[in-house]
Parts: sequence; structure tokens; C-alpha cells
Amino acid sequence: MAEDITLVIRNGTVVDGTGGDPFEADVAVAGGRIVDIGTVSARGAEEIDARGKLVTPGFVDIHTHYDGQAVWDSHMAPSAWHGVTTAIMGNCGVGFAPCRPADREKLVELMEGVEDIPGPVMHEGLNWQWESFGEYLTALERKPRDIDVGALLPHAAVRVFVMGERAIRHEAATADDIAAMRAITADAMRRGAFGFSTSRTISHKSLKGDYTPTLQGP
Ligand SMILES: [Zn+2]
Repeated sequence: MAEDITLVIRNGTVVDGTGGDPFEADVAVAGGRIVDIGTVSARGAEEIDARGKLVTPGFVDIHTHYDGQAVWDSHMAPSAWHGVTTAIMGNCGVGFAPCRPADREKLVELMEGVEDIPGPVMHEGLNWQWESFGEYLTALERKPRDIDVGALLPHAAVRVFVMGERAIRHEAATADDIAAMRAITADAMRRGAFGFSTSRTISHKSLKGDYTPTLQGP
């Protein structure tokens, strides 16, 4: 083998994601890439015995609510324990950016109600080193993490950022509100948002029992 093998995962049951039947094999890694799958005779600098265990590609979880936890936790448990290597957060229109200091409580109450994440945990863990969505992404980048994350721009945060209490009261957006939300969305996309999320379901309520601000949109 041309390259030094850095890792061999031996005797695992490989489920390769193609839809084919699982099969028992060794997986060799060199230079950060899989270089062999089958019976690997070369020794790796590191060897893992995976007999009785599954060996799979990393899972991409496209619907999570790690928006807060990703700020304070490097391990991203429990997803990292279960083979997830990329988590997409900011789903259901809820998240913490953009956010003005005066609106932090609103977004925490919304996350607590919609996703059942305890408010005291969020208050303890969120350091609020951002106001805009771009600043939130920069804050996320400062922390090394066991898995990768991607963030959607959450509609409720955008709506509260632009409309404040009027968003909580479900008032209709004015033409100026819509123009401002559009500009924030375009800017967030340029700065690395994975997309945009919203919610139109009556099952999504804040801690106080209010429907989510995005219920009626636009
Ligand atoms: Zn969700």
C-alpha cells in the first residue's frame, strides 16, 4: 500500500449506505480517506476491533435543535454517541439569531415551549456573543466540536428581530417589515446559513402558550 495506514477498523459489520446487504469487513484509512474495504492485511497505526458492531458512514441529522447546546457543548451528545457526524439545527423556525438583547427572553421562551428544552439550561449556557445571524455563526466557529453543525435561519427569530412585540402578538407584517426580513435573510445566506426554516403548526407554542410568531406568516 502506497500510503501508511493510519487506522484499521476490523471485523465490523459494514452498512455502506448504498442499500446493499450488510457485510463483515475491515476498513482501512490513510490520509483521512478510506483506502480499502475487505480483508486488510496491513497494520494500522491505530487498530479498532469492531466485531459485533456496525461500521457506517456518518449520519447527517437534518432536523435538530442544537442551536443552544452547540454554543456551550463540544460533544453534542447524544447525537455524537449514535453515529451522527453532521447535525443541521435551526429547524421549526426557532433559534437564537438574529436576536437583540431585549428579545432574548422571548426566544428562550419560544424554544422552551416548542422544543421542551429547559429555560434554566439555556439561560445558563447561552453566552449571547452575537446579535446578527452572521455573528452567531462566528461565535459557533470559535468552539471546536466532535461533529459538524450547519444552521438554518429561523423565521421566528427574524420576525421577532424585525417586529418585536408585534411578532409575539401575531400582527401582520408591514411592507417595511417584509423588506427588512428579506434583507436579513439574504445577508444570512451570504454568511453561511444552510437555509431558512419556519413553522405553521398550532402544536408549536411558547412557554406561555402563545402560538409561534410564524404561524400566520409572511
Ligand atoms: Zn423541530
